[in-house]
Amino acid sequence: MARIELKNIVKQYGDGFPAVNDVSLDIADGEFVILVGPSGCGKSTLLRMIVGLEDITSGDLLIDGKRVNDLAPRDRDLAMVFQNYALYPHLTVGENIAFPLRLNHSKVPEKEVRERVQRAADMLELNEHLDRKPANLSGGQRQRVAMGRAIVRDAKAFLFDEPLSNLDAKLRGQMRTEIARMQRSLGTTTVYVTHDQTEAMTLGDRVAVLRKGVLQQVASPRELYEQP
Ligand code: ADP
Ligand code: ADP
Repeated sequence: MARIELKNIVKQYGDGFPAVNDVSLDIADGEFVILVGPSGCGKSTLLRMIVGLEDITSGDLLIDGKRVNDLAPRDRDLAMVFQNYALYPHLTVGENIAFPLRLNHSKVPEKEVRERVQRAADMLELNEHLDRKPANLSGGQRQRVAMGRAIVRDAKAFLFDEPLSNLDAKLRGQMRTEIARMQRSLGTTTVYVTHDQTEAMTLGDRVAVLRKGVLQQVASPRELYEQP
């Protein structure tokens, strides 16, 4: 778990309008923050800067009080789940989930890797599928594998980029419930990008609204969506 502080974060690609323009937001330890806004408003860019896949042009990013602007992704210890799942097709479900733990620098003993993969699979009901390849899974199962790969690392925070947008409505509902349950039981700080108002209302402690790179409003789901 971690506190994540964004202080006047700017991302400038080329010389156009900044993709992210002076965004400041203090995310509490264990908080679930939803990021909404029209396509192109800078949501993905902001997530990618937090996780370290994109340089920050100016401003400060603090994790538990420590400035991490110049830290490599691996040293930030955050887990990102992408919209397209980004699974390795040649690896089994179990190997996909274990992958972050088997990278050279992670130094997790193999016995513990297996135990942690097992725990993640239990939580996500993937036990029967550990030896299958991603191509033989449903969309919902693939999404679970992507989440398994995130939770297996005991990361300090989860960053979700529209994780359910490729699923049909029924599965989306199921996965929404699972994400809520998972986050409650793990208590992990989460930043979650979505277009779906139901997700924003049911998952978020707070909702942050971005528009043209500018943070326009930060409010509880109730304040934001309930009619007066
Ligand atoms: P969102 O996730 O809200 O749809 P993005 O963060 O993907 O928005 O994009 C924000 C803005 O930055 C858009 O105008 C987009 O075209 C621009 N952008 C995103 N990535 C790049 C890039 N690698 N190079 C140049 N411009 C980019
Ligand atoms: P390498 O270290 O061999 O270049 P990668 O490029 O796969 O390996 O990843 C580098 C580091 O970036 C990983 O150790 C991990 O900490 C981080 N990383 C990769 N993918 C993600 C992700 N989805 N979410 C968070 N961090 C990631």
